[in-house]
Amino acid sequence: MSDGEERGGGGKCAFDKSMALFERAARVIPGGIYGHLSPIIRTPGATPYYAASAQGARFRDVDGNEFIDWLCAYGPMVVGYNNPRVEEAAEKQRKLGDCASVPGGIMVELAEFLVELIPFADWALFAKNGSDMTTWALQVARAHTGRRKIIMVEGTYHGAHAWCTPGHAGLVPGDRENILTFKWNDIVTFKKLVDEHEGQIAGAIMTPYHFPNWSDSVLPQTGFWTEVQAVCNRKGIVLILDDVRTCYRLHLQGSQELFRFRPDLSVHCKALANGYPLSACLGRKEFKNAASKVFATGSYWFSSVPMAASMATIKELKENDGVETMYRIGKLLWEGLEGLAKERGLTFALSGNPTMPYARFTNDNDLFRNQAFCAEMNRRGIFVHPHHNWFVSTAHTEKDVEITLEAADASFRAVKEKFGD
Ligand code: PMP
Repeated sequence: MSDGEERGGGGKCAFDKSMALFERAARVIPGGIYGHLSPIIRTPGATPYYAASAQGARFRDVDGNEFIDWLCAYGPMVVGYNNPRVEEAAEKQRKLGDCASVPGGIMVELAEFLVELIPFADWALFAKNGSDMTTWALQVARAHTGRRKIIMVEGTYHGAHAWCTPGHAGLVPGDRENILTFKWNDIVTFKKLVDEHEGQIAGAIMTPYHFPNWSDSVLPQTGFWTEVQAVCNRKGIVLILDDVRTCYRLHLQGSQELFRFRPDLSVHCKALANGYPLSACLGRKEFKNAASKVFATGSYWFSSVPMAASMATIKELKENDGVETMYRIGKLLWEGLEGLAKERGLTFALSGNPTMPYARFTNDNDLFRNQAFCAEMNRRGIFVHPHHNWFVSTAHTEKDVEITLEAADASFRAVKEKFGD
């Protein structure tokens, strides 16, 4: 597909090859496609299952359908698939070497670069994914304080490890015995937990705002972060920011800058290297000693190519006002969708930040309308998700928004026909 006409039309994508491949996968891969990429939590049968290629803000599936991709690989793609600058940096490093018996010099360069960029950070340590880094950060908090309990927000995703996985299988009661939870923005309960477990709380881990799957995103109330930081500082609790999903989309120097607070540790991943596997924990100097004692390693944690890609990604965002660009495009999309829905008498609302909006029909508690809407969008070559926030990249254009809105208009019409409101 190359023009808006086809996308805005009658919902033409078919997914036969995707389905055939999934049948093969189900025989040799548990679950076929597992975790957050599972088509089961999208719109089974009305969504691409496998990609063939990706370029800019689009990907092509194995059936040859092309999609404007508003999921951006669930966040990692931030400056466009195959971004020339990132690919050149990665290729240059690949030729020099990637995974070797000692780290590449690029590791030091990237750490210096991030420490210079992120105001509160005095050091950086690298891994491959968010789960490993959030879990490691908890260990640093425990090593630093000699305490064992951790406070987190109910319903927040921090990774696939036992202390925080949303899954149920394979867990034992002890996995969560040191985890305390409170509801997002409920500072009263937060303080109560701190008082009830005086001297036992090692760390508090939170995302910059609340973006649970299956429901609306919620921004921090005025004063929330100031109070959280004040309590943590007063009680010697290590404040850990999980910026895995949000980094480089809310603020180039880390999401704490947008909400004006100072974490002790912060975990970056996703947009950090435009799709190359890399995560980082950034920290204040007070925690460097504990950080150096908590064992950290992985077979690929020292690979140089993702580190070179990361430097290029962040430079690209910095030099081209990437965050502002994404915000502008996201806002166009946000207002366009709400406007169209309103014209049709539908209650469709977006929440969160325009660079990563969560969208749903407000009269749709079972999310069936959302599923129908996203299936219609998928069929028209627009990749969106009914239960997860979407993502904007700097590769998305005003034209992409225009094409998306054309498809949305037809998709809203289809939802209205099916559900009535
Ligand atoms: N924290 C947050 C807020 C996330 O969104 C994710 C990933 N979706 C993680 C942690 C875990 O990261 P990963 O999937 O790279 O392990």
